[in-house]
Amino acid sequence: MKPQVTRRTIIGQAGLAGLALAPLANAVEAEHRDDKAPLNIVVAGGHPGDPEAGCGGAIARYTSAGHNATCLYLTRGQAGIHGKSPREAGDIRTAEAESACKILKARAVFATQMDGATEVTPARYAELTKLLAPLKPDVVFTQWPIDTHLDHRACAALTLGAWSALGKSFSLYFYEVDLGSDTQCYRPTAFVDVTAFESLKRQACMAHASQNPAGFYLNDHVPMLRFRGMELGCKFAEAFIHHDQSPPGRLPGA
Ligand SMILES: [Zn+2]
Repeated sequence: MKPQVTRRTIIGQAGLAGLALAPLANAVEAEHRDDKAPLNIVVAGGHPGDPEAGCGGAIARYTSAGHNATCLYLTRGQAGIHGKSPREAGDIRTAEAESACKILKARAVFATQMDGATEVTPARYAELTKLLAPLKPDVVFTQWPIDTHLDHRACAALTLGAWSALGKSFSLYFYEVDLGSDTQCYRPTAFVDVTAFESLKRQACMAHASQNPAGFYLNDHVPMLRFRGMELGCKFAEAFIHHDQSPPGRLPGA
C-alpha cells in the first residue's frame, strides 16, 4: 500500500533532513496539542543520572502536562562511588535516582545489570524488552550509540532491540550527555524548549550528590542547555535525534 503523505510524514522527513529545526519543533508541538490523551514516556539510561542529565527538562515538561514518565536504569551505578562496595554504591545511587524521579514526577525502574560491565546478549535484550513492554510506551528516549561509556552504548543497543521486538510501535529518540567528552558525532534533529523547567532539571541532577553534580551539571550540562537554546531560539533547550523509522511528533508541548 502506498504510504499516505500527511503533515506528520512531512514533519518526519524534515527531521530526517535536519532542516528548519526550530520550526520543526514548533510544528511538532502544535500538532501534539491536539492529542489530549496522556502519553507514556520512558527514558532509558545506563546509570542513575543519565536520563535526568539528558532529558530532565523534557521529562518535567511532560509530567507537568499530565503525561506519565518512567526512568529505566540499566544499572544502579554500583561502580560509581570511590571507596564504596558495589552494593553500598548501588544502594546510595538507587536512593538518589528515586529522589531525582520524585522531583521530576517520574517513576524509577531498574534492570539488573552491573555498572561498568553491562552486557549486550540475547538474554539482556529479552530483559529490557520485558521491562519496557508493560510500560506501554508512546515515546522512548535512549542514549546515543556513539557515547564514550560502554554502558551508554549498551543502553542504546538494548533499547533499539526492544523497539524492534515491540514492532517499532513507539517514537524513539536519542539524547546527549556530556557532549564532546561522552556523546560524540551528534547532530540533533529535534529540540525542546525547557527554559521553564531548568530549575526542576537542576534539582533532579543535584539529587545525585555522590556524582559531583556541580561538575557534571553546572560545568557540562548548563552550557549544553544554553547552546541548544541558542540553536532553538530560547534560553534553555534539550536536543534529540529522532529515529526516522519511528513515529514522529511526540515531543512535549501539549
Ligand atoms: Zn552514564
